[in-house]
Amino acid sequence: MTIEENVALGRLTTVGIGGLAKRFARPQSLAELDGAIAWAADEGLAVVTIGLGSNLLIADEGVDALALRLEGELASAATEDGLLVAGGGAANAVCLHRARAAGLGGFEFACAIPGTVGGGVQMNAGAYGSDWAAILERALVASAEGSDWRTPEELGLEYRRSALGPGEVVAKVEFRLEPRPPDEIKATISELQAVRKAAQPTNKRTFGSVFKNPEHELSAGRMLEACGLRGHRIGGAQISPRHANFIENAGGARAVDALALMAEARRRALEEFGVELEHEVRLVGDIELPPAGQTL
Ligand SMILES: Cc1cc2nc3c(=O)[nH]c(=O)nc-3n(C[C@H](O)[C@H](O)[C@H](O)COP(=O)(O)OP(=O)(O)OC[C@H]3O[C@@H](n4cnc5c(N)ncnc54)[C@H](O)[C@@H]3O)c2cc1C
Repeated sequence: MTIEENVALGRLTTVGIGGLAKRFARPQSLAELDGAIAWAADEGLAVVTIGLGSNLLIADEGVDALALRLEGELASAATEDGLLVAGGGAANAVCLHRARAAGLGGFEFACAIPGTVGGGVQMNAGAYGSDWAAILERALVASAEGSDWRTPEELGLEYRRSALGPGEVVAKVEFRLEPRPPDEIKATISELQAVRKAAQPTNKRTFGSVFKNPEHELSAGRMLEACGLRGHRIGGAQISPRHANFIENAGGARAVDALALMAEARRRALEEFGVELEHEVRLVGDIELPPAGQTL
């Protein structure tokens, strides 16, 4: 396996923002993954896994780490005995396709989540009343300390979070699914995709939901809309005119533009609703939001 240098990470994200990874590798098997993790430990480099980059904001200055993209058998998926078994880098769309072909239902909710199953474990991704925690049997987690299989409880899956530590990589997952006729699965997917298309900017470059929904009668999107932030723009980043909990790369956006928008959105939500919004998007590299109420 080659360790590449100075690889542009922005092009590996859905929003298309971000600088270079100091080192980059594409492990194709568990042995290569263990090798890459051990190499990084020897070099004193942190390990960052990039899935489909659909919930990432990467620093303009890049990342001083070994960035990993799981490929080959670590991105493949197959069904066996009611289980969907997939490498951590397998795209949700591929898994859904395999499950449907095998007449296994329960993963349809993920049809509008453009990520990998490993990224889904990290985020406990979910939609339409279900999430990873509801169907995950166990996940194989690799780190510098070795690998171990963990249950959803051991993974600490909660609303859009897990207890995975820095440098821990989801190498493989097993989902427990239920028999369901493929045409019913197909119909559900079409329905959910139509709902999604009607509500969100699906044809724009975004990193998915910016903020988690707060414990409030209003969702983060409705709250920011009520603050008058739809369409608000800083540099090349714009709060989506369609859904205020999305930031679009409206052309040449930099991470600092998106961060400034996020800080402004938090300031307004605090001022108008007394709510401190927590970001859902993962910030990678040397970037962070200022305390709620402050602008960048
Ligand atoms: C248009 C759009 C719609 C979306 N809709 C939804 C939705 O309905 N529900 C929802 O929950 N999310 C949604 N998202 C967000 C995103 O798709 C999910 O969070 C997804 O699970 C992220 O997966 P990923 O592979 O792209 O991970 P990335 O964005 O690449 O990474 C996210 C986090 O997971 C970590 N990670 C990635 N792979 C691994 C691995 N193998 N092992 C350990 N850690 C890993 C990364 O280091 C990072 O911390 C949406 C995003 C977009 C762009």
